[in-house]
Amino acid sequence: MLCEIDLRLAKINGILVTHGHGDHVHSDTFKIAKEFRIPIYIHRKTVLKGNDLKSACPKYLIKNHSARMFSIKEFKIKPFSSVHKGGNVGQPHGFCIEYGHKNKAYKIGYLTDTTRVSQEMRDALSNSHCLVIEANHDLEMIKNNPPSHSNWKQHLSNEAAAEAIVKIIKNSTNNIPKYIFLAHLSRHNNNPRVAVRKITKRIRDEGFHKIRVLLTDQFKKSKIKKLF
Ligand SMILES: [Zn+2]
Ligand SMILES: [Zn+2]
Repeated sequence: MLCEIDLRLAKINGILVTHGHGDHVHSDTFKIAKEFRIPIYIHRKTVLKGNDLKSACPKYLIKNHSARMFSIKEFKIKPFSSVHKGGNVGQPHGFCIEYGHKNKAYKIGYLTDTTRVSQEMRDALSNSHCLVIEANHDLEMIKNNPPSHSNWKQHLSNEAAAEAIVKIIKNSTNNIPKYIFLAHLSRHNNNPRVAVRKITKRIRDEGFHKIRVLLTDQFKKSKIKKLF
């Protein structure tokens, strides 16, 4: 997938780990980090269990972060806590990533794997030029076809994502996002077209007509958009 966007692994300056679940960090992550000497940024409470993870990567490549802002090359990274449970979750985080270009700071907000979006999270994500936010499941689909497990409760629905997005936009004083990428969509409990339609409608109903809602996919490249 990285080849499709002409990005070589050797050019990656860091890997941000949101939490310890297997769909976010895997022994292969550490093998790749080791081979290409890419530092992995992970909260100190997000303990890496299992010898395969620990032995897969030399210690000097593991960078523990706290709640404080840190830098990866010219990028400023501000972590903020999210609310997410289960398994080896550790301390889950979302991130804001800032990059300066021609005397202007551009901000990307990233939040997945959270049961809710608190005022602190909305404050952190406000004034982003681009938002990546979870739209995991659709509440109508859950109601019509209840899943056998309750993992979906640890994630944001289309409806909750739409609500959070509107509040984040209204909470913003300098910038509102040009692009919103929907992430972490469930294959069973969501439909990408429904997610985009519902969330776009909610944003338009609130009077924001220029924001584009786009999809991400675990296995396919996303659309590439330029912020400046
Ligand atoms: Zn998770
Ligand atoms: Zn996840």
